[in-house]
Amino acid sequence: MVVNINQSTLSLEQGDITQQDTEAIVNAANKSLKGGGGVDGAIHRAGGPQILKECIQIGGCETGEAVITGGGNLKAQYVIHTVGPVYRDGLHREPELLENAYRNSLNLASSKRIKSIAFPSISTGAYRYPLEGASEIALKTSINYLKAHSDIEMIRFILFGQSALKVYSDTLNQLTQP
Ligand code: ADP
Repeated sequence: MVVNINQSTLSLEQGDITQQDTEAIVNAANKSLKGGGGVDGAIHRAGGPQILKECIQIGGCETGEAVITGGGNLKAQYVIHTVGPVYRDGLHREPELLENAYRNSLNLASSKRIKSIAFPSISTGAYRYPLEGASEIALKTSINYLKAHSDIEMIRFILFGQSALKVYSDTLNQLTQP
């Protein structure tokens, strides 16, 4: 599914984030930046040891913040590492922190003159953020960013599996219906 926002595109696809040819891909990292399971593990396996080396030099990342490294052996030139919130009950600033993770990743991309970026569904794996709520925050934040910033030309969401793609598609339909 693809929608146009001003001169830019926002698309949803099923796939593997490590295979994307966007200038940057986003990692759903943890605060230590020392690697982990899920997307984080997949990115470090596919990208090779250089990414972890740069992460260790950076030292860590707070929840909702974002940092950037090179892409190692990946097709993407950069990896933006952001840390989403661990979901407890929705009453511990989880929505705000998830929005910050997306917005700070996009701000960092803009500051590096990156024009195309691919996101996974941050916080919805090991961090257990419910997919419906997370998709709404991910897509609203991206749409609002593209409305306000014309420098980013493409945001791609790479969903792992048919059911995640369906939830994101339903949410995007709701948000973009006239
Ligand atoms: P978090 O700790 O932020 O929850 P996870 O990596 O556990 O991060 O999961 C985030 C989302 O990424 C989940 O929906 C998971 O299914 C998905 N995912 C796992 N591996 C990949 C991959 N290679 N490409 C894209 N998405 C992936």
